[in-house]
Amino acid sequence: MAALQPSLDAASTKDRLKGRVAIVTGGASGIGSACVRRFLNDGALVAFFDIDQAAGKQLEAELQAAGFETKFYQVDVSDREACFKAVSHVASQYGGCINFLVNCAAVFMYKALDADTSDWAQVMSVNVAGYSNMVQACFPHMKTAEPDARSVVNIASIFAHVSSASKWTYCTSKGAVLELTRCMALDLAKDDIRVNSVSPGSINTAAVAKFFAGDEDQKKWFEGCHMMNRLGESAEVAAAIVFLCSKDASFITGADLSVDGGYAAVGPERH
Ligand code: NAD
Repeated sequence: MAALQPSLDAASTKDRLKGRVAIVTGGASGIGSACVRRFLNDGALVAFFDIDQAAGKQLEAELQAAGFETKFYQVDVSDREACFKAVSHVASQYGGCINFLVNCAAVFMYKALDADTSDWAQVMSVNVAGYSNMVQACFPHMKTAEPDARSVVNIASIFAHVSSASKWTYCTSKGAVLELTRCMALDLAKDDIRVNSVSPGSINTAAVAKFFAGDEDQKKWFEGCHMMNRLGESAEVAAAIVFLCSKDASFITGADLSVDGGYAAVGPERH
């Protein structure tokens, strides 16, 4: 079967979020950086947070040179005070309101029988509490934004839906993101803030390349675990995230959207 190639053409959504303000965590690389680019394409003003100063500065310089309105903040999302400080600075730069938050920053900690208490503390403080810190920091600025443009998207994973060997820490943190999303959606609905999650399949990012470490056979086998027989592209995940922020998703909240080429839905029959 010929692999379907992703459409990366975002021409049809150009400027649909004109003047809106978006914050993306983990925005310096991979899915987060694709999301920054897609928001900019769609007309939003974008601040992106990441712990990686070098990668963040490099992306900021590239995007500003291309004429985009964007700013990088070095923030560790597990540091609640740092989240509040940076978010408040973003709001002060853009008229007090924040429309969209994408929680993408995460650590890929794969531990199981070897996981100790400090491993659990680390993975949960970034992948779960980090999402909560950012929502708490954005909330006062979001509830005063235009009511039809207030949205949070939390990035979960296929591993929130199916098990994977030797990854208790990562899989549990991603499972928690689904429940956190539903709880947030319930509490924030009265302020017209929609909260959803996106569960990517295996996506072509540096983090995943490191996982396969040049083992082409393993990569091929893993591609075959997706109904579409390939890995996804970051831009495909970004398109779904920005859709959830747009008016086209105005009645969607508390939901999880799988962007996984059919990974979580496939039964024992594979290619
Ligand atoms: P990535 O490593 O390219 O991006 C993650 C970013 O988060 C990095 O830039 C990293 O510096 C940043 N980060 C890590 N800890 C941080 C912290 N404490 N504070 C601020 N920033 C921090 O990874 P990616 O593949 O683009 O993954 C992005 C998201 O998508 C993650 O939530 C990941 O769990 C999820 N995801 C990825 C895949 C995949 O196949 N790539 C699949 C399912 C889910």
